[in-house]
Amino acid sequence: MGTSRFAPSSTGPAHPGTLLAALLGWLDARSRGDQWLVRIEDLDPERTRPEWDAGLQEALGWLGLAWDGFQRQSERDGAHAAALDRLAARGGLYPCTCSRRDLAAAGMPSALGGFAYPGTCRERPLPAGGWRSSTEPLRLRLPAQRFEIADESGRDLSGDPSRDPGDPVVRRRDGAIAYHLAGVVDDVDAGVTRIVRGHDLAATTATQWAIQAALDAPHPEYRHHLLLLEERGEKLAKFHGAVGFPTLREHLSGPAMCGVLAAAAGLRPTPEPVQPEALVADFDWSRVATRDRTLRWTGDRLLLLPATA
Ligand code: GLU
Ligand code: ZN
Repeated sequence: MGTSRFAPSSTGPAHPGTLLAALLGWLDARSRGDQWLVRIEDLDPERTRPEWDAGLQEALGWLGLAWDGFQRQSERDGAHAAALDRLAARGGLYPCTCSRRDLAAAGMPSALGGFAYPGTCRERPLPAGGWRSSTEPLRLRLPAQRFEIADESGRDLSGDPSRDPGDPVVRRRDGAIAYHLAGVVDDVDAGVTRIVRGHDLAATTATQWAIQAALDAPHPEYRHHLLLLEERGEKLAKFHGAVGFPTLREHLSGPAMCGVLAAAAGLRPTPEPVQPEALVADFDWSRVATRDRTLRWTGDRLLLLPATA
């Protein structure tokens, strides 16, 4: 039996895109007989809020998704510190205060957007007191190595993350453990064998793969799926702004929401209300649409716009 996880950040209310990721991850786990864990990613002290943590849990219950295990990253500081100890003992950590502007000045455009970190501070030592006494952000020195990675859908995720996007920050100036390291450590400790998530995160895989290697940990399988989009002016953007769980719940039942998501994913021809359980038996990734779909919030309904050619 495998283990997979859904790892939303408690930095806002659940939106339809969050709920689609939850539903697809849950269906994947249920149809395989895997464990499905929920991990609230709440390490960003400036952006996380307890009401959004509670709201995410309520939203999953409303949608009809039960989990087999629950964790909160903020309760895992001992494990995160132990990982930093191991990486520091191998000489892998170094302080770096290079700003985004410094990266832009170095002028190495990243395929992930923005600029890559060119390794400016790689040779700097940790302070004498070790990583705990650093008042600067810490980066992890990755080996110059290309990793050949494909996710289960065949998406090519290969790359040398030491070059692009460059050595990751693993501990921020405020002491918070950064996303890549916390996520990898929590996945490893939970025995996660399978990561199902939206394709907006696909480009983070190579960095996470390199961190797994640095920790001598096995690599999970990855599956990246379609996103839900919303119209924002002339453009389409990830469905984040238009409507969140508190409003959705006022206007839709859980099964109605599930029906919209199932239709968006191509699992049902029309958005009729449905319980997640009813989708398990014939769930298969070959039936899941690969193209992103656009939703429109009308103020009281979620419309699934026709797929564009
Ligand atoms: N917390 C991340 C997010 O909501 C997802 C992390 C992951 O699945 O690796 O974007
Ligand atoms: Zn630097």
